[in-house]
Amino acid sequence: MKPKRHSTVPVAVDQVLIGGDAPVVVQSMTNTDTADVAATSAQVAELARAGSELVRITVNNEASAKAVPTIRERLDAEGIDVPLVGDFHFNGHRLLERYPECAVALAKYRINPGNVGSGETRDASFSAMIEKAVEHGKAVRIGVNWGSLDKQLVARMMDENARAAEPLDADRMTREIMVASALESAARAEELGLGRERIVLSCKMSGVQDLIAVYEMLAARSDYALHLGLTEAGMGSKGIVASTAALAVLLQQGIGDTIRISLTPEPGGERTTEVKVAQQILQTMGLRDFTPHVIACPGCGRTTSTFFQQLARDIQDYLDARMPRWRTQYPGVETMSVAVMGCVVNGPGESKHANIGISLPGTGEQPAAPVYVDGVKRVTLKGEGIAAEFQEIVEEYVRQRFGSG
Ligand code: SF4
Repeated sequence: MKPKRHSTVPVAVDQVLIGGDAPVVVQSMTNTDTADVAATSAQVAELARAGSELVRITVNNEASAKAVPTIRERLDAEGIDVPLVGDFHFNGHRLLERYPECAVALAKYRINPGNVGSGETRDASFSAMIEKAVEHGKAVRIGVNWGSLDKQLVARMMDENARAAEPLDADRMTREIMVASALESAARAEELGLGRERIVLSCKMSGVQDLIAVYEMLAARSDYALHLGLTEAGMGSKGIVASTAALAVLLQQGIGDTIRISLTPEPGGERTTEVKVAQQILQTMGLRDFTPHVIACPGCGRTTSTFFQQLARDIQDYLDARMPRWRTQYPGVETMSVAVMGCVVNGPGESKHANIGISLPGTGEQPAAPVYVDGVKRVTLKGEGIAAEFQEIVEEYVRQRFGSG
């Protein structure tokens, strides 16, 4: 059963809804220089084609702000309507004021309340950005990050804590400050006229337990739409596991309306990995379907050839290659499951549970591979062409089951 979602008011970011009953949204961020229109447009397009439903770009200087409308135009010309989110920090208020076309081209502004100056300047900068969002009818993410907390808020709350009868420890105080920063900033944004239906909150931390604790506090104290992400998650499997561990615990409680996986790319690695990981978290938790599910056994001493590993890889690659076309041609195909199993022990049973399954011969077994379709044995494949014949069966199944005709 899917957990009941915590947020109550959905936030519209162009055509994408965040929060309420809307599906959890996948987003990502570019790592190009935004002023480089060609590189940024290409990476946004790549992330959108991989399934990113929002893409954030940094808007850190005048050249970037000038580039934003052209990036939007290029994407529109390619038929890519993914909403762009502008990431603003110290000078965001000036950029939004000086470059109104940038303010209009963006669908959402991300504002870090700890990075918009200090004292009266801070309040004026924050207010100016919120006023621009109100003026242009844009959504805002108030994104608190533990690496850049509002210094005055920290000083005030630390003083209060020092005077308390039972002061909280430093970890607990950090969490309290983060939540206070998000909620006080949201309250200020509402005072300035930004409706709840335009506010998303985030409180990013790099520790799994910290992140879980701070979002549980945030969810207990408010019902704003929430953006989840473990900041500085790291590289490779470490970043994936840490992000999954943190986000799964929260999503299972109905906390979180949009997610980003902040992976440090491997040298030469693809930026789209963060999108695929986000989709896989949501799909494996049963929260959304993005692509047909391949169930493959891990292999063991019963299968000494790598043939089934190769077939599982080929099937996954084949499904990935087909999905861009299938997604529009065969609605619902993303719910399909395909099993590729290594021997007779679990092969037939697992294959029967999938929409389509193949049980390959283990070491010493007859060189035959029974194929099951919707739980019923359809055919037994033999010889060199098993992989190609199995793909034909999958293609035919998709056409018949998900085709409109
Ligand atoms: S299905 Fe067979 S080959 Fe695969 S893990 Fe199980 S026993 Fe091993």
